[in-house]
Amino acid sequence: MNANIETADVVVVGGGPGGSTTATLLAKRGHRVVLLEKETFPRYQIGESLLPSTVHGIGRMLGVTEELEKASFMVKRGGSFRWGTNPVPWNFLFAVAPELSGPTSYAYQVERMKFDEILLRNAARNGVDVRENVDVKEVIGDDERVRGIRLADGHEIHATFVVDASGNRSRIHQGVRGERIYSDFFQNIALFGYFEGGKRLPAPDSGNILCAAFDEGWMWYIPLSDTLTSVGAVISREHAAKLQGDQEQSLLGFVDRCEIVKDFLSDATRVTEGTYGEIRTRKDYSYTNSTFHRPGMVLVGDAACFIDPVFSTGVHLATYAGLLAARSINTVLAGDLAEDRVFEEFEGRYRREYRVFYEFLSAFYDMQSNEESYFWKARKVTNFNATDLEAFVSLVGGVHSGEQALVQNFRESSGALADAVERTGTMQTESGERMHHLFGTPVVREVMQEMNNIQVRGVQGTAARELPLLEDGLVPAADGLSWVSVGEAK
Ligand code: FAD
Repeated sequence: MNANIETADVVVVGGGPGGSTTATLLAKRGHRVVLLEKETFPRYQIGESLLPSTVHGIGRMLGVTEELEKASFMVKRGGSFRWGTNPVPWNFLFAVAPELSGPTSYAYQVERMKFDEILLRNAARNGVDVRENVDVKEVIGDDERVRGIRLADGHEIHATFVVDASGNRSRIHQGVRGERIYSDFFQNIALFGYFEGGKRLPAPDSGNILCAAFDEGWMWYIPLSDTLTSVGAVISREHAAKLQGDQEQSLLGFVDRCEIVKDFLSDATRVTEGTYGEIRTRKDYSYTNSTFHRPGMVLVGDAACFIDPVFSTGVHLATYAGLLAARSINTVLAGDLAEDRVFEEFEGRYRREYRVFYEFLSAFYDMQSNEESYFWKARKVTNFNATDLEAFVSLVGGVHSGEQALVQNFRESSGALADAVERTGTMQTESGERMHHLFGTPVVREVMQEMNNIQVRGVQGTAARELPLLEDGLVPAADGLSWVSVGEAK
């Protein structure tokens, strides 16, 4: 064998959440996986606000739940929004969704340097051959399939599958022979930095993400610790000229014009040193690839698609795709089903999740709507047979897909739902009271209670068998790590 060529079952390019998730779930089935990462971790990345499905569903499958707990990330119980025609901020709590009610109805706000490193080191502990500071130059293959990757120095790794999880700036995504299609609707630009000493929402919502609309767009305000806050402005392309020149002045100008964020930062100072001292911009980040797969290669996470920062869906989509890709590759490597068939399932599920969020997020951007319209839209796009509020929270909690792997412990206590409702009742903010009023309506309570009961029965009786999500689709195997045909599911 040529000294410049080595072999593996799978090469994963990129060590972000998408790459680490895919690689770990492949290694758990005993495959030889090499993960190549351009940088040396910890490295900076934006995308700090997570959803419960990532923390509890994917985190549990990866085996990092305790490590995440120990990292003392800020606990995020939901989101607070100054959005729409109503000047008063309103909250949603993850606990409202029946699938999430219980002890796991929260997510984290994370410093991605720490979060991504936990996932990457965990991949190595699970047997993935993790190599940092390795820049993949191109994929190699022929008309039939992709067969490996090549580095700049000519070194090649030949593998049955190449997973492109190299993010927004992927230079190999064209290996699937598709094209990036940019969204006509989301043509936004983000400008962001970090502040010390910003205010917090009143407890128990102090870890919530705050999103506040203002004339030129909207701002995120993400508490990363008791004192550190990530602050960003998302503006449309028409206002791009405002980013010319001094970026610090641009960011401070947006803060000045966004009343609630201005108030929250009134005693804060901008971090000016170290990794968080830089003011950064991102643009052209809303796109989807025309195809996510070709024989021998699959796209995962930002390499495949991303919508928009609102509602924190990026890491969810990346890790969900990682799970779907790992199932598909594990199935093919075991010789159980044909590659076309499993990747049809992969692409069908991934696009379904992407589309639902895309449709909902574009509706959310309709600034003339009020909150009730957002809830209604969530219901329409998910076909949820539940109340508008539940549908809304299920969607933004990342669990509407019906994937049991993404939902954990939600059936633990029939009292959990009542607790969630009562806790909301004790919130002293105006928005808390408005939410409480909504939760208190009999129809919402009844439907939530009934769904909760069904879930409790599920955990106490026989485990629910997953039904196909797609027409003639596949279902996950018992351990969630591969696909089986419906008739074979045990
Ligand atoms: P990444 O995290 O980008 O990881 C890709 C990795 O690949 C990187 O480590 C990179 O170094 C490596 N790599 C690249 N090229 C190569 C190469 N040639 N060879 C080897 N390695 C390579 N998401 C959320 O969930 N919550 C949020 O609050 C949120 N806010 C956002 C705000 C903005 C402004 C933007 C633009 C995005 C936001 N996102 C958010 C989205 C989030 O950043 C991404 O969706 C997420 O990081 C995607 O993970 P990934 O694993 O696909 O890619």
